[in-house]
Amino acid sequence: MASSPAQPVFRFAPSPNGRLHLGHALSALTNERFAASMGGRLLLRIEDIDRERCTLGLEQALRDDLAWLGLGFEPKVRRQSEHFGDYAVALAKLQARDLVYPCFCSRQGVKTAVAAEEAKSGRPWPVDPDGAPLYPGTCRALDRDVTAARIAAGEPHVLRLAMDRAIAEAGKVAFTVVDEDGRTETVTARPARWGDVVLARRDVPTSYHLSVVLDDALQGVTHVVRGRDLEAATDIHVVLQRLLGLPTPLYHFHELLTDESGRKLAKSRGSESLADLRAQGATAVQIRQQLGFD
Ligand code: GLU
Repeated sequence: MASSPAQPVFRFAPSPNGRLHLGHALSALTNERFAASMGGRLLLRIEDIDRERCTLGLEQALRDDLAWLGLGFEPKVRRQSEHFGDYAVALAKLQARDLVYPCFCSRQGVKTAVAAEEAKSGRPWPVDPDGAPLYPGTCRALDRDVTAARIAAGEPHVLRLAMDRAIAEAGKVAFTVVDEDGRTETVTARPARWGDVVLARRDVPTSYHLSVVLDDALQGVTHVVRGRDLEAATDIHVVLQRLLGLPTPLYHFHELLTDESGRKLAKSRGSESLADLRAQGATAVQIRQQLGFD
């Protein structure tokens, strides 16, 4: 279904790398409520760029879970793994403007470089909002011929955004956060705190940041509704939107559900899945009510 220019477009964008838990249900239901209250469209996007962890079986399982919860998405689903060409085109645009550079460092290599910097300065190395050390810039100024030769020899590498150049080109960037009553607030992005983020992984010509930005634009998403854990990453997304000439949607960040010990629910920590709850006899109506949706 095509949207009229004024019709809001929402999306729920899970990764099929594990079973959905209550936190995902909250996110999907918040999107549904926004869409219903604004007469908007509700799209599903499958974020499956991680070809090792994402499976078609898990995708089917999450679609079954969403259907069980009574969520109705438009039938046309965008699966990121089918669009690597789109991401490669965007990367090439950034590369042509010298805004990305190849980086050959392994995770361990980054750790070692950071430890060396800390030993030299006697101070802790800065970390990004997710707590990971900022990239220390080892490959930022590599000689172009050396880089080309290493790539030609098949050395694995990622592509990183040269954040200082990106900020210089993008200028001051901001985004608008909207609450469920329609009140808005403008937030100035602080992308420098992320350093030179990865835009293309070793195995695929994209990363979470690049594909989310491209897909939101390609799907015409006007309102990105997602958890507060992705609020800080929005700084990166608005810079990429500006650099690629894409619109910046409105954003809403919902609160996160936590377990008894106060940690956010996570597939990686084995949080109870919707499938577990269903097997224990929970109904979709109970789940909706538990999460505050009637
Ligand atoms: N795929 C991401 C996740 O499952 C969400 C992406 C987003 O909403 O921007 O956490």
